Amino acid sequence: APQNYTAPAGALENKVILVTGAGDGIGKVAALTYAKFGATVILLGKTTNKLTAVYDEIVAAGHPEPAIVPLDLKGATKKHYQDMAATIQAEFGRLDGVLHNAGLLGVLTPFEHIDLPTWQDIMQVNVTGPMLLSQALLPLLKQNKNAAMIFTSSGVGRKGRAFWGPYAVSKFATEGLMEIIADEYDNTGVRVNCINPGATRTSMRAKAYPGEDPQTLKTPADLMWLYLYLMSDDSIGITGQSLDAQAK
Ligand code: NDP
Repeated sequence: APQNYTAPAGALENKVILVTGAGDGIGKVAALTYAKFGATVILLGKTTNKLTAVYDEIVAAGHPEPAIVPLDLKGATKKHYQDMAATIQAEFGRLDGVLHNAGLLGVLTPFEHIDLPTWQDIMQVNVTGPMLLSQALLPLLKQNKNAAMIFTSSGVGRKGRAFWGPYAVSKFATEGLMEIIADEYDNTGVRVNCINPGATRTSMRAKAYPGEDPQTLKTPADLMWLYLYLMSDDSIGITGQSLDAQAK
């Protein structure tokens, strides 16, 4: 990817893009950014009032009116995702992009202290939910000449690190999910990639590193060049890659 790619105005015009975890952190800024570049954004997330606030901000800025889908990836079943896909088909008639961004950190723990319910929650939100969502939405994405799916990885999804247990394992699984779908959908026009955001000023990062000064960190806005690149037609042909949003 071209470092610090600049998307042309209107780069995402006429596109319908679903963003998970759109109410806060990186997902919120991604949703606002996609709308600013012309996309109709479907805001999926757990806390409805956060989604409403993002909706209001997009409308106030004069961008295309978004849609809100309150959904807890922890409890959602295959049927929830299938129904959502049917609603998107009925309301918009198309889907051009999906940003799998929602994520659950859990609590950093010595390996011997990982408890099963926490492990299962993290796998559900970070892996099983995105898998079911992808299954439901790929038929819609495939209808387009080209479409983009982006997963959100992490440094600990490429190299394991002490105490990051289930979160790190879930990010390794995310990389695997991306590679498998990318390979399987090669030549369908659906491209599938991962973004590793790197250390970013959000509440998740603050929870993982409580002693760190957030002012020393990049903000979600600093990462948007890559989120725009992989969602725009300028990345047609790029698939199966895991890219870093912050230069090393
Ligand atoms: P935040 O915790 O700030 O935001 C996470 C978002 O995911 C929130 O909007 C949250 O919704 C949503 N979410 C969490 N659980 C669920 C659920 N069960 N159902 C639906 N939505 C849910 O995290 P970040 O913005 O920092 O992280 C975004 C992504 O980037 C994650 O995948 C994370 O793992 C990854 N990442 C972040 C890094 C960083 O330094 N910040 C570094 C590497 C990777 P709600 O607010 O309603 O709970």
